[in-house]
Amino acid sequence: MIIVIKPEATVKEISEILKKVKELGLKPHISKGKERTIIGVIGRIDTLPEFFEGLKGVEKVVRILSPFKLASREFKNEGTVIKINGVEIGGKKIAIMAGPCAVESREQIFEIAYFLKENGVKILRGGAYKPRTSPYSFQGLKEKGLEYLSEVKKETGLAIVTEVMSPEDVEKISMVADILQIGARNMQNFALLEAVGKTDKPVLLKRGLMATLEELLMSAEYILSNGNPRVILCERGIRTFEKYTRNTFDISAIPLLKRLSHLPVIADPSHGTGVRELVPPVGKSAIVSGADGLLIEVHKDPSKALSDGFQTIDFSMFSKLLSELKEICYVCGRDL
Ligand code: PEP
Ligand code: MN
Repeated sequence: MIIVIKPEATVKEISEILKKVKELGLKPHISKGKERTIIGVIGRIDTLPEFFEGLKGVEKVVRILSPFKLASREFKNEGTVIKINGVEIGGKKIAIMAGPCAVESREQIFEIAYFLKENGVKILRGGAYKPRTSPYSFQGLKEKGLEYLSEVKKETGLAIVTEVMSPEDVEKISMVADILQIGARNMQNFALLEAVGKTDKPVLLKRGLMATLEELLMSAEYILSNGNPRVILCERGIRTFEKYTRNTFDISAIPLLKRLSHLPVIADPSHGTGVRELVPPVGKSAIVSGADGLLIEVHKDPSKALSDGFQTIDFSMFSKLLSELKEICYVCGRDL
């Protein structure tokens, strides 16, 4: 349920309400909006709405009907804006996260990072730990890759988004990452979701290969309910019977997620299609559909990339996409 606090409520009244919530063995989640403060309470609450409605400073109590609570628009009507490195994700400006699928060498990541920086990108993606279908494929440079990401971050000032695959690695990767990426294959790795939920790092949560939107939002709920309010949802395509693409990018997921949840939504047309030529048109469509940004795989020479080369765009395709996005943003009332 949500306890909506009166705008004129005093600090003492609010702390009294919080005390009561805790006395009942429940966990309060406070959200201070521009106009309203609300307290989310999760747990067995059968007769509690009436009880809280009687307290001083309470305007009303609303039950949340959807299975995901803290992630829902009912809980928070205002869209969440996440600030990273001077970039806002979920605001008017769309956020571009770009870079190679995997960090392959110091030279490779520096070259791509400088190119992106020159093009105004503020968030660099690159996997050090790679979840590969085959155990014989390149698994990422792991700690060496993290080291390069840390160096490139220091030199360029770019924020880093990189994947964490297991709870044991969360602390180590958090030292370098500005955003922790939870990959599609780990969307329902609940121990991992709990671990990143206990950090103070924003989390980019990718939709599972066969996950419904409700399952995605329930996974976001794991992170939120563990105390981390900074979750970014990512549509990256789902498995269907279609074989011309690697995945089927679910365009309707974007406006739906924006309607169901206050969390920012990012689109990944690279994994969403698996086909280089489809990345720009699908990426542009995602922005038209209301996405708050794009996650795009970029490499200086995609034909030499150690992973996901066929869906990776090169520098000139990326520059062209950026200039097209500028016009699209203008039409959609967004900024780039
Ligand atoms: C990636 O971003 O490189 C990746 C592995 O993505 P996904 O988890 O969506 O497959
Ligand atoms: Mn990839």
